[in-house]
Amino acid sequence: MATVLVIAEQAKGVLKKASFNALGAGQDLAKRLGGAQVHALVIGQGVGDAAKQLAESANAVHVADGAAFANPLAETHAAAAIAAAKAISATHIVIVASTYGKDMAPRVAARLGAGIASDVLSFTGEGNVHFKRAMWAGNAVATVEVTTAIKVVTIRGTEFPAGAKGLNGSVAALAADGGAPKTKFLEFNEVKSARPELTEARVVVSGGRGTKGDFKPIEQLADVLGAAVGASRAVCDAGWQPNDLQVGQTGKVVAPQLYIAAGSSGAIQHLAGMKGSKTIVAVNKDPEAPIFQVADYGLVDDLFKALPQLSEAAAKLK
Ligand SMILES: Cc1cc2nc3c(=O)[nH]c(=O)nc-3n(C[C@H](O)[C@H](O)[C@H](O)COP(=O)(O)OP(=O)(O)OC[C@H]3O[C@@H](n4cnc5c(N)ncnc54)[C@H](O)[C@@H]3O)c2cc1C
Repeated sequence: MATVLVIAEQAKGVLKKASFNALGAGQDLAKRLGGAQVHALVIGQGVGDAAKQLAESANAVHVADGAAFANPLAETHAAAAIAAAKAISATHIVIVASTYGKDMAPRVAARLGAGIASDVLSFTGEGNVHFKRAMWAGNAVATVEVTTAIKVVTIRGTEFPAGAKGLNGSVAALAADGGAPKTKFLEFNEVKSARPELTEARVVVSGGRGTKGDFKPIEQLADVLGAAVGASRAVCDAGWQPNDLQVGQTGKVVAPQLYIAAGSSGAIQHLAGMKGSKTIVAVNKDPEAPIFQVADYGLVDDLFKALPQLSEAAAKLK
């Protein structure tokens, strides 16, 4: 009998938005596997509330809570994931393809002798479920089969709806101690910002090379809209903005309700990180810019003129 284990991601005891999408993916997978059970695992310190939230969308929740798991060290967290997978004889392990998931999933797969499908966009088939995953910056979608008994899957959270609630599963502590890690956690340098986190935000205002490094109009509009700020790689490579703001194939994948791209041409590598956004607005002074091909609303204009006007209009509406 198949059993799906969804590994949630949290920070300071608060679940990441994508964890709910991972539950949605787990539920979809379980249905395709003929009604398998969906178990969830949360690892950290002080994660009791997160566990209760997960229980709404899972048949059972396992909690690895304690000082050994206080920091997101891949070694200790993978040890907990492996303990949970063994305890419930998990056949499918699902985790978001975030930095956390990408760090942990290969370790879990290797130590369980499992095959892995990464950056999965959707599932196909019933019984013997195959995985659709993006390749070449999203220009091709491959369908892959994992032939090992245990299968590890990292999913692109933005491609799956949040899990349905109402399962109200049981919550139990997991017997796991984090093993004997060969690495030691030293410090976590958090980038402090009053703005929402890029991958969690409902609205993102992003700037490209057209800003020439002047992000004032981008930041002003972001603040009026309560949005996160994003950037193209050209901007980050130039050192105009930090790398953690980069959206795209080699940056973060976002799918907010509203994505405003100003002064970005719309290179395929950038589109790979934002084309799942619900509504895309592009501001570019070149009417031929490829970004207009994916935009729901396009404005051919100079961003230094258009964005302050947009900010002013949005502020008045508020
Ligand atoms: C392996 C690989 C991975 C990559 N990964 C990423 C990635 O993750 N994310 C990413 O973004 N890129 C990535 N790139 C780079 C990508 O190919 C592009 O080079 C980059 O996205 C271009 O950034 P841009 O749109 O800001 O700049 P440009 O392509 O130079 O576009 C600037 C745009 O601004 C417009 N403009 C100029 N002035 C104004 C103005 N005043 N008002 C309005 N519009 C104006 C111009 O018309 C132009 O369309 C990757 C490339 C490779 C090879």
